[in-house]
Amino acid sequence: MDYDVIVIGGGLSGLTAASLLAKRHLSVAVVEKSYNPGGSCGIFKRGHVTFDIGAAMLYGFGEKGFNAHRFVFNALEEPIEVIRHDLLYCVNFKGRRIRFFADVERFADELSDVFPAERDAIHRFYRDLQKMYQHVMVETPSYATADETDRKTALKSLLRHPVSYARFLSYLNTSARNLLARYFKDPELFKFFDKLTSTYCYATLEEAPAVLAAVMFVDNHIGGSYYPAGSTLFLPGKLEKVIEENGGDMYLESEVVAIDFTAGKPSGVRLADGRTLTASHIIYSGTVWNLYGKLIDPALTTAGQREWAEKQVPTYPSVVLYAVIDRSVIPEDTAPIEMLVGKPEQIDESEVTAYLLSIDDRTLCGEDEHTVLAIGPSFEDWSQADPIAYQQKKQKEQERLIGVLERRFPGLASAVRFAEVATPRTIEHYTLKNGGAVAGPKQMLG
Ligand SMILES: Cc1cc2nc3c(=O)[nH]c(=O)nc-3n(C[C@H](O)[C@H](O)[C@H](O)COP(=O)(O)OP(=O)(O)OC[C@H]3O[C@@H](n4cnc5c(N)ncnc54)[C@H](O)[C@@H]3O)c2cc1C
Repeated sequence: MDYDVIVIGGGLSGLTAASLLAKRHLSVAVVEKSYNPGGSCGIFKRGHVTFDIGAAMLYGFGEKGFNAHRFVFNALEEPIEVIRHDLLYCVNFKGRRIRFFADVERFADELSDVFPAERDAIHRFYRDLQKMYQHVMVETPSYATADETDRKTALKSLLRHPVSYARFLSYLNTSARNLLARYFKDPELFKFFDKLTSTYCYATLEEAPAVLAAVMFVDNHIGGSYYPAGSTLFLPGKLEKVIEENGGDMYLESEVVAIDFTAGKPSGVRLADGRTLTASHIIYSGTVWNLYGKLIDPALTTAGQREWAEKQVPTYPSVVLYAVIDRSVIPEDTAPIEMLVGKPEQIDESEVTAYLLSIDDRTLCGEDEHTVLAIGPSFEDWSQADPIAYQQKKQKEQERLIGVLERRFPGLASAVRFAEVATPRTIEHYTLKNGGAVAGPKQMLG
């Protein structure tokens, strides 16, 4: 088959690209290794219970700010019902619960109660970031990359708020730690922010570019955090619907094993079962390591390109616990997303983000139950070939993760009705994310 565009990978990014192109009447094919689209975002069922696979705290559906999902669904003219979380999330830090309210001032007050000596600086920090965000991201939102943004429009925005733009651009070349050092002194507050960048940018304060951290610190509040009503299945499902309604093809259970080139230009793909597809354009949504390491014949890339890909630092491998528990062990004031900080000074396996999405969406499980998805880092070696040893290790990991949750929700360990663990190997198997690094390469300075 010959297409205008072949999209390799049917996760959120691949489906988004394919649906926008199909809507513009290009002939599109999506090739996905798994039996259903969605990648890290979607569901699986166990009996009557619906589990979200992964991505479930979704940004970008708001009315104000940088709202990429909203932009896409508007462009697709496809309605989607989303539930806005009252609280973005809640961070359990050194025995305190820090609630992330949508209202930034209210959140700044909450944080100041934990770090009273920094009260003024905290308010100043968030006010400065909001102003910059308002000027740069809200007034002229751009959904194209810098090199594809119309120069005239970019110049107009720059001239309207030159100071904010200069500040924003200066944040490209400095670390999040340097940015914070302009405002704060308390080392404990640095540890708190380190947890935020480590969890949501997968990079420490030293590693994360200030620009990424600055946007992340306020964007979540302004835009809000959302959950697709009925489960995250509706997000990839709606994108797939647009692709199919516009004549696009979905090739499921089909892995691309090579990208073919003609006269130095990508011209098609080869599938694991021997089929080939051709197209004028190829979009790839997997990892850089697989692209340069597996899919493109090394004779067609330079040593520099391959070295660049190899040099990308992976984010940490993750494990995920999926459980059903008695509803009675979860206190009424629990947030749908709770981050449990183990050691404030470092990332270790006692750090877990727990998603209790049935707090917001009661269709996911029985009336007297809650679903729990708990994700955290794993520094174990999961490569054992012996299936029995692997299963035993999974069982131990399940007990360990339940133990971590028990500390936040006493009684949970004896209230578990069902539990299952995905290891870094499981994640790699289902998403082709090397080593189970769910966030791919670290987004580091430089
Ligand atoms: C447990 C977990 C929790 C998360 N929580 C959140 C969250 O709350 N909020 C949030 O914003 N993000 C979250 N994320 C991250 C979020 O899921 C991802 O950023 C996003 O879904 C990635 O989309 P993607 O399309 O880039 O990649 P993926 O979802 O990984 O999809 C890539 C797809 O491409 C396919 N593929 C790759 N190579 C090939 C090939 N050669 N041939 C065929 N198919 C191929 C894979 O099979 C896969 O389905 C979470 C991730 C996980 C795993």
